[in-house]
Amino acid sequence: MTSTCGVCKIHTSELLDELVAWESDRWILRHHPTPAPLVGWFLLDTRRHVASAADFDALEEAEFAQILGSAMRAIRSVIAVPRVYIILFGEGAQHVHAHLIPRDPSHTGTSAWEIADWYRAVESGKRPAAQPVEIAEAVQRVREEMRRTVKI
Ligand SMILES: [Zn+2]
Repeated sequence: MTSTCGVCKIHTSELLDELVAWESDRWILRHHPTPAPLVGWFLLDTRRHVASAADFDALEEAEFAQILGSAMRAIRSVIAVPRVYIILFGEGAQHVHAHLIPRDPSHTGTSAWEIADWYRAVESGKRPAAQPVEIAEAVQRVREEMRRTVKI
């Protein structure tokens, strides 16, 4: 299972380092890889191959809330949006990877479930992806925020 898991593959990719804003023995907070739907679209992954948050161990369950809160505050601050969405399907890969999505109300086409259409439009090339230079800056700034605020 692990060898065919998309998230496990990303975790061993050479391209991962430049996308990682924070990591520990159990977690990786990384920017969405190219093509990224929006600047500041991050994912919080477990390192362990676990299919659902319902299957977390006690430590993962406790840390998840803490890291999620810190990551959402960091993204909200760095991208300068009033809120951040969370989507955790566990469908594309049976490996927890929570999508943390900056929501800018002035950005039409990204509200609530519209974000799914936006995602598909970028994935299919109908809409331009976020620029790598802007992603790199967002990763750096979220990295600084996480380093300052997360004490795990
Ligand atoms: Zn996996």
